[in-house]
Amino acid sequence: MENRFGIRKNVVCAAACVILAAVSSWYPIPANAQGCPSIPPLTGSYFIWNPIYVQNNSSAGATPFANALSSWSAGIFGLSPYNGGYLDIRIYNASGSPAWVAHTSVYDQSGYGCSGYEDTCGVCMDSSVIYEAVIHLNIAEIADLASDYSKTVAATQESVIAHELGHAMNMGHSPTVSSCGSSLLLMNPTADPVVACDVVVPTSCDYNELANIYSGRYPQSFCGSCTEQTCYQ
Ligand SMILES: [Zn+2]
Repeated sequence: MENRFGIRKNVVCAAACVILAAVSSWYPIPANAQGCPSIPPLTGSYFIWNPIYVQNNSSAGATPFANALSSWSAGIFGLSPYNGGYLDIRIYNASGSPAWVAHTSVYDQSGYGCSGYEDTCGVCMDSSVIYEAVIHLNIAEIADLASDYSKTVAATQESVIAHELGHAMNMGHSPTVSSCGSSLLLMNPTADPVVACDVVVPTSCDYNELANIYSGRYPQSFCGSCTEQTCYQ
């Protein structure tokens, strides 16, 4: 049936089919208005303040950690090392020997003390607001990945931390790409091509998609603790 349909299509609309084939080859994966592969949000919750403070409790190197933070700071958020104030993202070593390279959990405000109240800027602290994110790194698996592709451990740690920071800011995955090129983003679902192709920092499309995810929700300065002004009455 498929062959018959194909033959018939070619006979009936030879000219139109050439045009469709050309369009298809220009856009092999879903692209948005900026020409970037789309990245959906990871959850329904978002950071509402900027900058975001990150603490490294893992055995990943200080330099890969610092580089991963500063690489995202060219985007819409400033990411800074934890300085004793509000802590947004925590990074730990994974316990045991899990099969994965790294993992990120994002927690919203609905399970915490301010739930149902406004912050001092008037935003409701509920399931739409990120409370914190926790990243776990499988240090041994990251070293294996570096070895597999003859990359340095430092560069591979930086790439993995930067990818997980994307998740922590509520980015999902970009469409799966397995070879090097402009369609391969830092937020690719599999780590192998990202490491093999030296995608160590966010690409312009990763920055772009973070901005798209936060469109209309542009983060503001931290407003302080919540008030007892209830959100829903
Ligand atoms: Zn991921």
